[in-house]
Amino acid sequence: MAKPRVIYWFRTDLRLHDSPALKAALDLNAEAFWPIWTWDPHYVYKTRVGVNRWQFLIDCQNDLSKSITTLNPNSKLFLLREAPQTLFPKLFKAWKITHLVFEKDTDPYARDRDAVVMEAAKVAGVEVIVRYGRTLWDSDELVKKNGGKPTMTISQVQAAGPKLGPVPKPIPAPISMPDPGETTLDFEPEAPEQTPDLNEGYREEKDKSYEKIAGPNGDFAVATLAELGFPPATTPHRGGETIALCSLHSTTSNATYTATFQKPKTAPTAFLPQSTTLLSPHLHFGTLSVRQFYWDVQDVLSSYKGKEKASVPPTSLIGQLLFRDIPQPKMPLHTLATIQRPNNYSHKALKPTLYPNLYVHHRFPTGRSLVQRWKLGRTGFPWIDALMRQLRQEGWMHHLGRHAVACFLTRGGCYVSWERGAEVFEEFLIDHEEASNIGNWQWLSCTAFYSQYYRMYSPVAFGKGWDKQGAFVKRYVPELGALNEKWIYEPWKAPKLELIKAGVRIEGNGARGDEEGVYPEPMFDFAERRTICLEKMKKAYAVGLYGDDPRVLDGSWKHLFDEASNETEQGGENNRKRKAKGQATIDVLFKKAKT
Ligand SMILES: Cc1cc2nc3c(=O)[nH]c(=O)nc-3n(C[C@H](O)[C@H](O)[C@H](O)COP(=O)(O)OP(=O)(O)OC[C@H]3O[C@@H](n4cnc5c(N)ncnc54)[C@H](O)[C@@H]3O)c2cc1C
Repeated sequence: MAKPRVIYWFRTDLRLHDSPALKAALDLNAEAFWPIWTWDPHYVYKTRVGVNRWQFLIDCQNDLSKSITTLNPNSKLFLLREAPQTLFPKLFKAWKITHLVFEKDTDPYARDRDAVVMEAAKVAGVEVIVRYGRTLWDSDELVKKNGGKPTMTISQVQAAGPKLGPVPKPIPAPISMPDPGETTLDFEPEAPEQTPDLNEGYREEKDKSYEKIAGPNGDFAVATLAELGFPPATTPHRGGETIALCSLHSTTSNATYTATFQKPKTAPTAFLPQSTTLLSPHLHFGTLSVRQFYWDVQDVLSSYKGKEKASVPPTSLIGQLLFRDIPQPKMPLHTLATIQRPNNYSHKALKPTLYPNLYVHHRFPTGRSLVQRWKLGRTGFPWIDALMRQLRQEGWMHHLGRHAVACFLTRGGCYVSWERGAEVFEEFLIDHEEASNIGNWQWLSCTAFYSQYYRMYSPVAFGKGWDKQGAFVKRYVPELGALNEKWIYEPWKAPKLELIKAGVRIEGNGARGDEEGVYPEPMFDFAERRTICLEKMKKAYAVGLYGDDPRVLDGSWKHLFDEASNETEQGGENNRKRKAKGQATIDVLFKKAKT
């Protein structure tokens, strides 16, 4: 019998170590083996991806390609520039493929794409092998063990996961790889639909990444930022399995840090180095296996004999990895239509979601300009601006920093929909994961998972509590670099003389951009906004519209928000329901809430 001719399709798993799918592919003992990546126009044009995440991806691909070539000098990562849905049917024929193998991807677009590719494989008589590898446990199986429902809490993951057995031990990286077969392509590529291009704003030159299917030199090389028409990246964080494994090693070689890690005690203001592992981008691109991370930490825990007590979930490092598994199973069910697409500020299109996503009429007439100032890091609140500039420049922000800016944009300041914030994070984060991003934004905006909206982060006190001297602010908001620390979180209160000494003027609304020596006035009085936000959230909870409520879909929700109060029929009914669930204490606490 002829030996298999295998395509291994890299997607969410840009690594050689601990890859169940890659192992399954190599176990086929192929006559010809092509490790490929498809340059999918969906991600190039229809997903918001900033330059820093592109660079990180390109780094990961180059590093992987090099590692493959080390295993077999005749091989590398072959990059094919066409949508997988149209490419595969032709490729199966051209290379006489018998097997297609890949890691399971649970994101909504990926599920649809894979269904199309699997159908094409069926038609072509190609066997498809899929293995999970992105999470601690297979997220579809986790749902089954959680009574058929997506996990919503860490304790549900802790209960359902072990029913599937212990987290699998990592598989070693392969030591050899078969030769690829011929790479001639006897077909014309299908040109991608390049508009609308969500990343147009970044392109300084024409995008040339689809001019030839095998790249400009016909050698299937990894693309460059220049081919995409993008300027150089600004992030200092670089991608690739080599760096990922080094970073993991440097974390776990500090046994005390690893064993006693407590997330709430890690400073969002720490930099060089940051206070948490910064392994999230590596987990996102699959250059680090989450099970490798899990077991390396477990190994440290088993031999830890330090004086300080070892930490436990949810605050420990293992707890963080369990958190990561919570939202993953929801993705196939949580339709992304809940994220409004560009410039669509209407909420009418809210689609049924699995989350009881509270429908908050999160909107101020000035919403757009507030979002712009927040996005650019020109709100006039140095703590918020420093965090947002860190995000824009470097593509990463500490978890509590994400809390601060997300609360500020939504229920704790701007009162803008969480969807606008999630879009900005989608664009800038190098660790962007649809599931984590959406889940966390809903959490922070108190529209799902968490309802204690009276707990609000102050854009002044929160940062100050971690970093009284304002070193973090001074790093990312250099125009305030010489300001006395007494005023660093509230420069608008600084005496004129102090400002003159520091060489900074507090003026305008940030529209003057990076004009030297100018920092904007705060975009509102936070104390005033806090009161307004609390009132509006209280109203939203009284109205209590969730997910696919017909009144959301038919537009009659507006009327409810105009007239909502605890006394309304709907509010009264919702309050009764919430009391039954023990939620009404929020209202009591709300009354006690201090500004
Ligand atoms: C509004 C908002 C949006 C977010 N968007 C993303 C996102 O797009 N992608 C993403 O990976 N994380 C997201 N997070 C979660 C969290 O902030 C990051 O995972 C974390 O800051 C990454 O830094 P780290 O690797 O140093 O984390 P560590 O504290 O070192 O934790 C180790 C790993 O655990 C996982 N983890 C930790 N906390 C969480 C969490 N709350 N939810 C899910 N996984 C977690 C991450 O994979 C992380 O790398 C978001 C949080 C908020 C509040």
